[in-house]
Amino acid sequence: MDRGLSENTKKIYRAISHAAMRAGREPHDVRLIAVTKNVAADVVVRALEIGLRDFGESRVQEFRDKLADIRNLLGVPPGGTLKGYRPRWHLIGHLQKNKAKMAADLFDLIHSVDSEELAEMLNSSAEKINKTQRILVQVKLSDEESKYGISEDKAIGLLERLRGMRHLKVEGLMTIPPYFEDPQEARPFFRKLREIRDRAEAKGFPLQELSMGMSNDFETAVEEGATMVRVGTAIFGERKKEEA
Ligand SMILES: *Cc1c(COP(=O)(O)O)cnc(C)c1O
Repeated sequence: MDRGLSENTKKIYRAISHAAMRAGREPHDVRLIAVTKNVAADVVVRALEIGLRDFGESRVQEFRDKLADIRNLLGVPPGGTLKGYRPRWHLIGHLQKNKAKMAADLFDLIHSVDSEELAEMLNSSAEKINKTQRILVQVKLSDEESKYGISEDKAIGLLERLRGMRHLKVEGLMTIPPYFEDPQEARPFFRKLREIRDRAEAKGFPLQELSMGMSNDFETAVEEGATMVRVGTAIFGERKKEEA
């Protein structure tokens, strides 16, 4: 078993608990999503063995191949369940419309829905496989060119459109603030996402989940109400950079 992996994971659970308690929240209301983009299949298997169950991937095709490897490593036939592990797979990266069908096949929760067109593709893909696809709406709160997400002022409009899509279940909001050395600087972005959620709830959209916080700033995110934190580097160490 991987000492480093379980030590890192324990540390993160502890930090999540402390942050939750500082904010008067229950530690078990925060779900740790282990981000395994660029992490090899055998490491994901070790993560399953130490008890991690929620995994975040940013690329659909990369994950499809990795899942096949994970199945092989566990000796599971195609279509078979993963030895009772029951992992939950999260898509946290940008989703292109032409990958919507594959994404609906693979992922339990898609965090990155940011347009009506993409939602429609997912809705019809989910309908074809008789699934209710759980999704989050990704909101862009910074003006960085490189980030995806719907703008704050359009978020409620999108939620209204999503209401009519019977094979989607909108469970909450996700955001990626800019990277700051000092996580306190990310706090206003987390707070803003929570405020948008509260406003949406007041308008009749029940949105439980707030997916926010990464290795560098997840404690701040938990203090501001995150229900899902997406942590990669702090669990698995520095990984190779993604190719362009
Ligand atoms: C890579 C990634 C993470 C994890 O980032 P770390 O800094 O490695 O914890 C979280 N969310 C998204 C959307 C990512 O792409």
